[in-house]
Parts: sequence; C-alpha cells; structure tokens
Amino acid sequence: MERHREVVLLLGAPGAGKGTQARFISDVLGVPHVASGDLLREHRRLGTELGRAAQAYMDRGDLVPDELVIAMVMERLDRPDAERGALLDGFPRTRPQAEALRAQLAERGGAVQAVLYLAVPEPVLIERLAGRWMCGHCQATYHEQFKPPRQPGVCDLCQAALSQRPDDRREVVANRVEVYLRDTQPLIDYYAAQGVLHRVDGHDTIERVRAALCAALGGVVHGLRRDRWHLYLRHPRAVRGNGHEAWLGRTLCGKYVDRDGNRVRGTLTEFWAASCRDCLRAVQGSPVDREAAPKAPHSSGEALGSSA
Ligand code: ADP
Ligand code: ADP
Ligand code: ZN
Repeated sequence: MERHREVVLLLGAPGAGKGTQARFISDVLGVPHVASGDLLREHRRLGTELGRAAQAYMDRGDLVPDELVIAMVMERLDRPDAERGALLDGFPRTRPQAEALRAQLAERGGAVQAVLYLAVPEPVLIERLAGRWMCGHCQATYHEQFKPPRQPGVCDLCQAALSQRPDDRREVVANRVEVYLRDTQPLIDYYAAQGVLHRVDGHDTIERVRAALCAALGGVVHGLRRDRWHLYLRHPRAVRGNGHEAWLGRTLCGKYVDRDGNRVRGTLTEFWAASCRDCLRAVQGSPVDREAAPKAPHSSGEALGSSA
C-alpha cells in the first residue's frame, strides 16, 4: 500500500512563517497543503457542528480539543487528492495528536517522512503576527512591512479583500505563542527521537527560508557540466531504501534525477554563492509566479511523490 506515504509536517509557533512557506513546499512536493487552522476556520464559516464547538477555544487562543482536530484532519487526508501524501501545517500541535497521526497513518500504510521545524525568536513572532493580513478567499498571507501586497488591502493572487484575524490582536498573540511553546515543544523532542526532525532557521528572508527548507528535504548538489549548485528534493524511493539510496532526488530546476549518491554535495552557503539560475528563480518566485515552479524531471519523467 502506497497511500499517504509522503506526509511532511511543518512545525513552528504562530507567526513562524508556516503559511507563507507552505504553498511553495506543497508545490514542489506535488501534494496538497493541509492546514488545521484553515480547516477549522472553514468549519466555522460553514457553521458545522465542529465549527461551533471549536469557536470559543479559538477566540481565546486556546487549542481545540484533540479528538475534534484529529478526526477533522484524518477526514481531510482521506480525500483522493491526498492519496500520495500531504504537507500538514498546524497539526499535530500536541503529543497525543502526534501519536494519533502516527497510528492512523500506519493503518493506511504511510508514515511521517520529514518534520520541518521553523525556529523563530519569540519577539519576532509577536511582531509578525501583529502586522499580518490575510486573504479571506485564498488564505494568502501578507505583512504590513515584510511582505506588503501590491495594492494595500487587496490580495495579489485573487484580488479579494485582506483582513486581520481576530486572534492576531496583540493581547491574544502573546497567549497563543505561550500555548504553542508549552504544548508543542514536546513534539520537537518526539520527532527528534525518531530521526525525522529538521530544524530550519525561520528568522531570515522568505526566499532564504525557502532554500533552507528545500535543503532539509534533500540538499545542495553540484552541477555536472557547469560550476553551479542546485537545490534538490529527495526522491521518495531514496527515503525508503534500507540505508541505500537508489535515487538521490531531483533538483528544483527539474534537470537531474540521479541513480546513485555519487554527486558532490554542498551547503546552503555554496548554493547562495553560485546558484543554478533556475533553482534560484524557483526560491525567489513570488506565489504569483506559478510558472517558476519546478517542472517534473525529464530524465525519469515522473514527479516527486508519484507512485513508484
Ligand atoms: P504562520 O502560518 O506560521 O502562523 P505566517 O506564514 O502567516 O505564519 O506568517 C506570519 C506573518 O509573518 C505574515 O504576516 C507573513 O507575511 C510574515 N512572514 C512570514 N515569513 C516571513 C519572513 N521570513 N520574514 C518576514 N516576515 C515573514
Ligand atoms: P497560526 O496561524 O497562528 O499558527 P492556526 O491558524 O494554525 O494558527 O490556528 C488557529 C487556531 O486554531 C489555534 O489558535 C487553535 O485554537 C486552533 N487549532 C489549529 N490547529 C490546531 C491543532 N492541531 N490542535 C488544536 N487546536 C488547533
Ligand atoms: Zn487571495
């Protein structure tokens, strides 16, 4: 059974930049972005029983009870578009949620492949949340100073009106960050112990964080013909091998899929010093530049995450 095998988690406090990075990561992995906060807000908007039950908790900045959130997320993962996997954002938030996810993925023949933890200092989180504006239609996020929309108050992607979330008020923000640190920090240890945790410095520009996330999901490799470094994403088959990497992965520019691990590997510093132009364009592309998203590699003709 191959369902759900490419589940990647995005962990980080409120304001760490999960939503901002998620679109890019889900595009390059070719799996849907599943955000528990967005799902909860959707349930509230539709006035479902779950939405009504979650409302009071959310407005206080407290966590919604585990059993409600677990059922909601698993229902989402069981939809056909998530068969190959998903990028989970905002879930799990607690140890019981993590254990439930593990058990329920195992039942479906899948597992958590990688956990990306965006580390950002607390004062920066507060500043980011207090200046955050969101599109009520497509959930794109903006920041007054750090990522202003082209036209004030209007979404770049879908032209809908931007608004501030009620729980982004300064007094509630501090509580949300505290609740996160208390309840979610144990998850970091949990995933570190399983050897799937990647700590990424989230206190950097959006494009540099993107590159660091790619490096965590694969790495940096040297070009074969030109003296240029590429960012690559590990091929799922490389993950499954018993210590043996049959496939290295594919680069963001879509050019290389290697059968062996003989390629010269580098660091992010090397990537920034001499990067492949197309890989660079991929991490710099604003969410509007969908054309800049990497294409499937021609050497194998299959995208990362497609069934083997
Ligand atoms: P999360 O989903 O983790 O709560 P968001 O992605 O919504 O966080 O980001 C919170 C706010 O910070 C948004 O206003 C966003 O535009 C801004 N932001 C995100 N990443 C960065 C970054 N690397 N540098 C500066 N501001 C950022
Ligand atoms: P942020 O963007 O600040 O990370 P989210 O949009 O992910 O916040 O979540 C908003 C609210 O939804 C949270 O404050 C919490 O009440 C609820 N929520 C989201 N995900 C979970 C979860 N996994 N478990 C419990 N509550 C959740
Ligand atoms: Zn929009």
